Amino acid sequence: MPDPTPPRSAYLHIPFCHRRCFYCDFAVVPLGDRAGKEAGPGSASIQEYLSLLHQEIAGAPTGPPLSTVYVGGGTPSLLLPAQIQELLTALRRQFGFQPGAEITLEMDPASFDRARLEAVLATGVNRISLGGQSFDDEVLAELGRRHRRADLLQACNWMDEAHSSGELRSWSLDLIQNLPNQTLAHWDGQLDQALASRAPHLSIYDLSVEPGTVFARLAERDQLPLPEEDLAVELLARTSSRLAAAGLSRYEISNYARPGHASRHNRVYWSSGGWWGFGMGATSAPWGERLARPRTREGYRAWLASPDDALVGEGMPADDRLLVGLRRREGVDLSELDVDEAARASLERRWMPFFEAGLLQRRAGRWQLRDPEGMSLSNRVMLEVVLWWEELEGP
Ligand code: SF4
Repeated sequence: MPDPTPPRSAYLHIPFCHRRCFYCDFAVVPLGDRAGKEAGPGSASIQEYLSLLHQEIAGAPTGPPLSTVYVGGGTPSLLLPAQIQELLTALRRQFGFQPGAEITLEMDPASFDRARLEAVLATGVNRISLGGQSFDDEVLAELGRRHRRADLLQACNWMDEAHSSGELRSWSLDLIQNLPNQTLAHWDGQLDQALASRAPHLSIYDLSVEPGTVFARLAERDQLPLPEEDLAVELLARTSSRLAAAGLSRYEISNYARPGHASRHNRVYWSSGGWWGFGMGATSAPWGERLARPRTREGYRAWLASPDDALVGEGMPADDRLLVGLRRREGVDLSELDVDEAARASLERRWMPFFEAGLLQRRAGRWQLRDPEGMSLSNRVMLEVVLWWEELEGP
């Protein structure tokens, strides 16, 4: 196994949202829908959290200059530009930034206007990830989102203007597919609008029903009519073929980019490279070991007060390395796994039917999901990884 490289990437978690969307199980602090002092960026709750975040950054060991920074959430666009600037300054002070570093901020439609976007870009942010999710008002309401189609169209226009004028280096639009009652015709309409937005990067996620969410409760009551598997596969294949035809290549199972617009930061996660993480619920992997911070503000505050308490940590086990690696177009090299030859051979036997069915291919020693067949049916291949790992680990 090669030595872990020193981290050159950092993730900052901003947990605040107006409300929790119906499918979301992230580490989030809902502030309520009303804007203003109570729920706004000047609120005591946000200021207190930011001071904890600054404390954690200032206490981190130093390392080489960062080449990527990702400010995610939550809804980081609820912060004032000055607050974003202070966080970036703290990172710069601690690590420095490499020339041309990629600095991404997640923004949600209806949480900013053109002037706010300009002010955010003036802080050094040069890539925006826009949480659009859907161009359909009814779907947005069903997802529990706060913004509506008009907000998203407006936000896309501002992004495109800023990108075309050179103010913004790149931007990405997030959409969710495989939604309740979704049809192929409906999804085609969504893809038309995504392409019309001229976003140079699209992240298209399958809806996943997470325990404890409103959607999980609806599913338990049989009130979440998700597409059948055949349609789900067709939706995924349609996404891949239409985006490829439009010049957006799939570099990861959920991510598509025009040349030069793949997210450098995301590649760090998928390549199992090291990264710093700061904030409640954030995971870091500074030296090959993943460390998960507490997912509540109280837990995070308590952990910062007793830094001797170890975080929940573990090396990345082989099954996780496979599940992460298979998502990437580059695929996985089984010889890099920390398992013996017999275990590798048993996984290859499990994968053989997928290889013969054309879902998996092997190129230059790397196993890869074929696009679109394998990526659309990736769950089947990944299930075999989970079963293989359970068998290896034993009862
Ligand atoms: S805006 Fe994003 S982070 Fe916040 S609740 Fe909705 S999905 Fe979760």
